[in-house]
Amino acid sequence: MEEAARIKSLPPYLFARIDEKVAEAKAKGIDVISLGIGDPDLPTPEHICQKAAKEVFNPEHHRYPSYVGMPEYRQAVAKYYQQRFNVALDANKEVVSLIGSKEGIAHIAWCYLNPGDVALVPDPGYPVYSIGTTLTDSEAYRMPLLEENGFLPDFSAIPPEVAQKAKLLFLNYPNNPTAAVADAAFYQQAIAFAKQYDIIICHDAAYQEIYFDGYKPISFLEVAGAKDVGIEFGSLSKTYNMTGWRIGWAAGNARVIEALGRVKSNIDSGVFQAVQVAAIEALLAPQDCVADMRHIYTERRDILIDGLNAMGWKLAKTKATIYVWAKVPPGFTSSSFAEFVLEKCGVIVTPGNGYGEYGEGYFRISLTIGTERLKEAIARMQANLGTVKFS
Ligand SMILES: *Cc1c(COP(=O)(O)O)cnc(C)c1O
Repeated sequence: MEEAARIKSLPPYLFARIDEKVAEAKAKGIDVISLGIGDPDLPTPEHICQKAAKEVFNPEHHRYPSYVGMPEYRQAVAKYYQQRFNVALDANKEVVSLIGSKEGIAHIAWCYLNPGDVALVPDPGYPVYSIGTTLTDSEAYRMPLLEENGFLPDFSAIPPEVAQKAKLLFLNYPNNPTAAVADAAFYQQAIAFAKQYDIIICHDAAYQEIYFDGYKPISFLEVAGAKDVGIEFGSLSKTYNMTGWRIGWAAGNARVIEALGRVKSNIDSGVFQAVQVAAIEALLAPQDCVADMRHIYTERRDILIDGLNAMGWKLAKTKATIYVWAKVPPGFTSSSFAEFVLEKCGVIVTPGNGYGEYGEGYFRISLTIGTERLKEAIARMQANLGTVKFS
């Protein structure tokens, strides 16, 4: 049977491909250090696991959960927004649970895009924005994130005829893969643009709690007018090392949240309630575990950035996320550099072009590996690359 046209061009998910490369290299006996994966290596904090372990035995949780999330879970999300951002959310109408934010990001396209419509997606960017869009037979218009613009999209560069066809605008700060951050002035611009063209903003805030050196990201929903035009996707995955648990949320504009909940209630049946109760514990218990994690990532970031800069890179310290985004040395493409460091150094980096054409010329490395292995990776790169001269 022939596959549907919409999935014929669908590549294997970027990280599934990288997993294959790791397996191949390991089979050859190479001691591979992977700096390629955006999945925290640290375990979920103990108090969250304990809560879940207890809740697993509660028979109330063994039945189908509420489609849109337990009221207590949605209230916990609202309370987090109130305490952290001073944003008031109606837990009944402005919050919906997600099976990880990736799920909601993919399904929001089903809510608003008809064939031929346009979604504006960042390039480089998390692949799910454009893949969710193309699965609805709609067009992803790629907004370049350029280094000279601080990796923020330039809305004035989007042709008006494209903006007129656009229904969704995906944004993601702190940003994967570039580690860039956005301020209120940028979100104000985005909101004004969305109002001018009647576009829904979908802000992906997966890295909102992973920040360094006294910098603290704001929420898109803090900015005046945000709730008129958009929603924010939140995730427990990176904040609490819970990628395997599959839980997140969308919060913001009530009509958009209702539409997303309606689509979801017809195709999935929500999140295991024991996981929701664990997530409530994560959000409302003291946040020391998150502070500890930020310290660990700060130390790793310093090893990586100082190490690369000692070799000739000129990277500024990142303010947030678990990534470092850097130019490949002269003479390499993203792919040839990723291949070179795998073959010569046994180190996996993610080629920047995997995130879109404007990622070409860059590579991404993740802070999801212990300090000793990070130092080893840097030492191997230093031994094989020597001093790198950027013009
Ligand atoms: C990791 C990540 C997510 C989180 O996905 P979950 O489905 O919540 O685990 C969302 N967006 C970006 C950009 C990410 O890197």
